[in-house]
Amino acid sequence: MSQEATILLIEDEPEIRRFLRTTLPAHGFRLYEAATGRDGIAEAQARNPDLILLDLGLPDLEGSEVIRQVREWTATPIIVLSARDQEQVKVAALDLGADDYVTKPFGVNELLARMRAALRHASRPADGGESVFTLGDLKVDLGRRQVFLSGKEIHLTPIEYKLLITLIRYAGKVLTHRQLLKEVWGPLHVDEGHYLRVYMRQLRNKLEKNPAHPRYLVTELGVGYRLRTE
Ligand code: CA
Repeated sequence: MSQEATILLIEDEPEIRRFLRTTLPAHGFRLYEAATGRDGIAEAQARNPDLILLDLGLPDLEGSEVIRQVREWTATPIIVLSARDQEQVKVAALDLGADDYVTKPFGVNELLARMRAALRHASRPADGGESVFTLGDLKVDLGRRQVFLSGKEIHLTPIEYKLLITLIRYAGKVLTHRQLLKEVWGPLHVDEGHYLRVYMRQLRNKLEKNPAHPRYLVTELGVGYRLRTE
């Protein structure tokens, strides 16, 4: 980051606050802290941070309630800090508008990578930006609706294409199964998880060198999928 980004940490565990208080400023972030959900919402309004790190297990409010309230007035990226056994809570947080999550205990490098990706994503031009998306050997001409892999055009079915461009639109971010089903198949199909599995497999077969170990179309276990951009 060339310019110092402001981060609001909403977390009741003093150890994690202490850890991030030393780590984040050393990596060029300005940190504000809150130990409860209510203070967090107030700080968010007062500071208008560039990014929010939100613990889901707060003493006064559900993390989901914090997301709901913050999302009423700002699209600032929210990264959820969750415990390993909180799959459902994590998914609900993403469905409510959180942008990403890290699972505790997390490594600082993973957290920093997720933070940079979220900040990058948030700073993209609102008009959709460039009309050609490239990632490694993958190139997608969004205007012409053409997909190339190492310069060779790849034929996708309409659903495969829609799935791919949905992932591109949220590149680097986790999309839950329900979000993807809603975007690609529509709101009546959010529980048809098998559609997604079938089409994701097809898409990987066409775009990944080794579909069993995808480089781009990665699985977020128990949560959804992400187009990996780092
Ligand atoms: Ca907690």
